[in-house]
Amino acid sequence: MKSGAYIHIPFCLTKCGYCNFFSVPYSITALNNYINLLLKEIESFKQTYEFEADTVYLGGGTPSLLSANQINSIIGLVQPDENPEITLEVNPVQITEDWVKALSKTKVNRLSLGIQSMNNENLKALGRKHSAASIPERIKLLRENGFNNISMDLLYGLPIFANYNIEEELDNFLSLEPEHISTYLLSIENNVPFKHWKAILPDDKFTEIQYYTICETLRETGWDHYEISNFARPGLESRHNLHYWLGDEYIGMGAGASGYVNKQRYKRPDDLELWQFAVEKKDNLYEKESETKAQQKADFIIMQLRLSRGLDIQSYKERFGSDFVSDFHDAIEKFISSGHMEMTNGYIRLSQKAWFVSNHILREFV
Ligand code: SF4
Repeated sequence: MKSGAYIHIPFCLTKCGYCNFFSVPYSITALNNYINLLLKEIESFKQTYEFEADTVYLGGGTPSLLSANQINSIIGLVQPDENPEITLEVNPVQITEDWVKALSKTKVNRLSLGIQSMNNENLKALGRKHSAASIPERIKLLRENGFNNISMDLLYGLPIFANYNIEEELDNFLSLEPEHISTYLLSIENNVPFKHWKAILPDDKFTEIQYYTICETLRETGWDHYEISNFARPGLESRHNLHYWLGDEYIGMGAGASGYVNKQRYKRPDDLELWQFAVEKKDNLYEKESETKAQQKADFIIMQLRLSRGLDIQSYKERFGSDFVSDFHDAIEKFISSGHMEMTNGYIRLSQKAWFVSNHILREFV
């Protein structure tokens, strides 16, 4: 089976006050040292698992801080197979002519842009360094240099800072003509600088309306709503993320990355010193957790029910040797009667009205 390879680059130019991801301040020296070790880590994973990746995802942090040479070295070691999808997450402020021209010489063929909002008040409040007005010019540069598979992040559920509505936000995103849109509901954890935002976040009813406005607007304009939070132009779904949702193996490398290999979930240390120690000891499955059959089932169900096509009943049977409908008969019957689930040839899926409350429903299957 083909795997996805995820590479974490945990450096950021500044820390966004709402962000809970593992990241550390950027310096050229720290990044160069990190890449030298990362290359050793990739070699070690390659030797141990002989994985064949058909997707590579450089995420962060801010992987667009990497030079083209560093990107080439990483991809060269991962050795993805023919026709891979190779995605780079990009901070829009870094899209300059020189940077794009250098990037166009690498094998990166998909970009995921952290735009978040096309409203300047929102961007300012979030602490993002790009302006909405600068985005069309940056996209034009990318297009002129051959990038024809661009995903954009759209954040919703923000506190209302200004004269802002989701319809206008969507219009602005659509005018940029992306191939893919990933939506994120802003959530604020207790350990972030903006924890006081918890008190000013809009209520669930408001964010639910925003969510369904996004879904309806994009569907009406021909987008494939293929996963609860993701939309693609036909045929341009994220192949890498599909590995997660289909329950495939994926190899996570770099400090803070997670992976799933040989039925074991693992997490690389989210501390640079500990990570360095783990790389030097070739301790690949640091913090590993062998999954019981019940956990494997739970992960498979949660992930597949996120897809709009739903859970593949035959694939469940092949993996676990039992019938999904019999295993969860009561819950399935309850949610089909309430209109939260539907059965369609070979698949069981969440209905549209269940998507915003999917976490409550999925709990009954684990
Ligand atoms: S750039 Fe991204 S990863 Fe870095 S702090 Fe901001 S939101 Fe977090």
